[in-house]
Amino acid sequence: MHKIQSAQADVAYFSMEIAVEPAIPTYSGGLGILAGDFLRSAADQEISMVGVTLLHRRGYFRQRLDDDGRQIEEPENWNVLAHLEDTHQYAHVDIRGHPVTLAAWKYEIESRNHFKVPVYFLDTLLPHNEPWTQTLTDNLYGGDSLYRLCQEVVLGIGGVRMLRSLGYRDIGRFHMNEGHSSLLVLELLDEQARAASRGSVTHEDVEQIRRQCIFTTHTSVESGHDKFPLEMVDAVINRSELYSMKEIFCCEGLLNMTFLGFNLSHFINGVAKRHGEISHQIFPRYPIESITNGVHAHTWTAAPFQELFDQFIPGWREDNFSLRSALKIPTRLIWKAHQQAKLALIKTLRYRGKVGLNEDVFTIGFARRATAYKRAHLLFQDLGRLQAIASEQGSLQLLFAGKAHPQDWAGKEIIQNIFQLNEKLPSEIHLVYLENYDFDLAKLLTSGVDLWLNTPQPPLEASGTSGMKAAFNGVPSLSVLDGWWLEGHIEGITGWAIASENEGDVKKDAHSLYRQLQENILPLFYFQREQYAEIMRHCIALNGSFFNSQRMLQQYIAKAYYQ
Ligand SMILES: *Cc1c(COP(=O)(O)O)cnc(C)c1O
Repeated sequence: MHKIQSAQADVAYFSMEIAVEPAIPTYSGGLGILAGDFLRSAADQEISMVGVTLLHRRGYFRQRLDDDGRQIEEPENWNVLAHLEDTHQYAHVDIRGHPVTLAAWKYEIESRNHFKVPVYFLDTLLPHNEPWTQTLTDNLYGGDSLYRLCQEVVLGIGGVRMLRSLGYRDIGRFHMNEGHSSLLVLELLDEQARAASRGSVTHEDVEQIRRQCIFTTHTSVESGHDKFPLEMVDAVINRSELYSMKEIFCCEGLLNMTFLGFNLSHFINGVAKRHGEISHQIFPRYPIESITNGVHAHTWTAAPFQELFDQFIPGWREDNFSLRSALKIPTRLIWKAHQQAKLALIKTLRYRGKVGLNEDVFTIGFARRATAYKRAHLLFQDLGRLQAIASEQGSLQLLFAGKAHPQDWAGKEIIQNIFQLNEKLPSEIHLVYLENYDFDLAKLLTSGVDLWLNTPQPPLEASGTSGMKAAFNGVPSLSVLDGWWLEGHIEGITGWAIASENEGDVKKDAHSLYRQLQENILPLFYFQREQYAEIMRHCIALNGSFFNSQRMLQQYIAKAYYQ
């Protein structure tokens, strides 16, 4: 064992997935990217924070599409040693009555001023663990419900113990980024009881722990909230003596990780204003605030725009609010930077075998997790109409991407349907479904297309963040009025809304989408370029200056961390 020095952190941030950098595939999508952006901003602002997550040696999965557009999932093996440092510290948890040893690997997120925020990746692949237990930190969102619960024991209980082994005695706040880490509250309660030499947890312990914990919920979709049958929980952690404490557990027959986290937190928030309200309707017993998500400005701004901002708004990385003065950048230069970003996208895709894309053709990007409520098919609701728009107003290039969860059969079918549509489309419409949407592809797409499309079934989009990434690159959104877009949308100024009097009606929404393309968006793009560039400039000035993770972190500091 290495000697360990005592360490301090104002905030420990727990997340099942954290995207620290593109080469480390330990994330599946929005949640992990957001966690990474959050910690990148903590490093920038020199907040003493530490991240805790699982190693996911086989990542989420690498997506391939066969000739018929069927998703093939391959393990995303990666070289841990090449990227992370072994801390040589260990912690132990009991799972199903057996002791399990955890190791921790360290990654340091470093700011431009060299302030570091460490992230610890927990690992169960140790020779003296049982073979099944060794696999617990292999797959993100893989396996069955038992596998998931055991992973959550490792993350929540194991995570707290590992921080202690690493010398973190003094941690001000524990932030649960979603319910996957909620079990951490049990460890904190036990610590409290042990410190008072008591064998059991009291109501005062609950009050004490509540002051230290913060919970952020990220979804209004039912399946996004982990629930486990109590028999399974008994078999895995055997803590039935706590079930009678209604302020900890609450629901008959099930352990609901969201409620567990809520019950032990003094601050609970949704990730956009409307999401906070909807969450409060779903969980009326809890006060739920909202802090709207943001993205990390210089991570998501493409090189040509970074150069432009450096020239006109020096200091924009340190002070994202200053992007407001993007209004003084000449539209001609905005357009030029955009064309460079678009060419970079087209060149990369050409290199990946997708030929025939043209930088002068209007290009729409759509990249989402492929799942029913995201309604990827909305644009194709009426192919005749889409075709008429393209022949009247000008050609279209449609770039689609997104993975379906391995168990989401409907999601896989969506991918296949879109993939196969290509054969039915006329030559004015060039559709490509790109494989393996990830950190790098997200950056290329959100900066390189002309319009970012978002069509989820309202009110199910908690926030969405890819449209924010697009905004930093001057790319306007055409989106359903849900999630962050309710706050970022000004019609014809920062982009356009898909809206109808019956919110969420598929036919009406599709009609609204086509009308926007036909009457507003395509005419501007093809015939009034100057005005299109004016909208791009507003995306940066109005939305880039606000929907960034610097502002988001400041709000957590003001409302949750030091309260
Ligand atoms: C930003 C991002 C997401 C989340 O985008 P949404 O707008 O929330 O759908 C998902 N996956 C990757 C790879 C991303 O970069």
